[in-house]
Amino acid sequence: MKKFLLGTNWKMNKTLADATQYTNDLMPIIEKYPAFDFFIIPSYTHLWKLKELIDTNKSALKLGAQNMHYADSGQFTGEISPVMLKEIGLDIIELGHCERRQYFNETDETVNLKTLAALKHGFIPLICIGEKSEDKNYGVSKEMLAKQLKIALKDVPSDKIGQFWVAYEPVWAIGVNGIPAETPYVKKIHDFLRTVLIELYGPLGKDVPLLFGGSVNINNAKDYAGLENVDGLFIGRSAWEPDLFEEIMVSV
Ligand code: PEP
Repeated sequence: MKKFLLGTNWKMNKTLADATQYTNDLMPIIEKYPAFDFFIIPSYTHLWKLKELIDTNKSALKLGAQNMHYADSGQFTGEISPVMLKEIGLDIIELGHCERRQYFNETDETVNLKTLAALKHGFIPLICIGEKSEDKNYGVSKEMLAKQLKIALKDVPSDKIGQFWVAYEPVWAIGVNGIPAETPYVKKIHDFLRTVLIELYGPLGKDVPLLFGGSVNINNAKDYAGLENVDGLFIGRSAWEPDLFEEIMVSV
């Protein structure tokens, strides 16, 4: 049976000492919840150390990076290639987070190139999509999301189903100023995303894990997790302390 996915993006937070402590604390916690598949997405500088820690403890905790260039190598100062991340032995590459799109010129087209590169190198691309508040206000959320999803998945064949994940994260719901989405809205959008995936891949589209993220917290996690087309939760602030994260695990 497919496990429900629960994971956290740390963004540009935590020192190496914090990251090590967090991981050491989280590993025994997740053993208590075998129904879930857990992942953490720290900063690049912590990845080698955390991978070592996870392997030493034979933990099932999955590890991911927050971004990746699509080229194997080249004249791209400041970027990190799939080949470099593969050396670490990562499981997941997060792609297209709204902060990457907003501050670092990430586009649907680069998300697509990175998705293809991640799959080629055996990573799980965790493709983030989300509409802005103005899209929602103009009533074009579905159009925006379908466009983001279809471009991200261009040339991704159906035999890769199950090897990529999609996170729906409404931009207006993310971060300290985010407004948590109403559960019926999340249901409406996740049901819609499922129809887009079925349009793209036929019945196999049902097997693409769809995560929800954006101000997920102890008060709303259970409601979101109970929705038919929500296969996981992608959490920021509310999972940055292992004990708070565990409260969410218990609630779900
Ligand atoms: C995020 O940035 O992807 C996120 C889900 O953050 P938060 O839960 O803090 O809104």
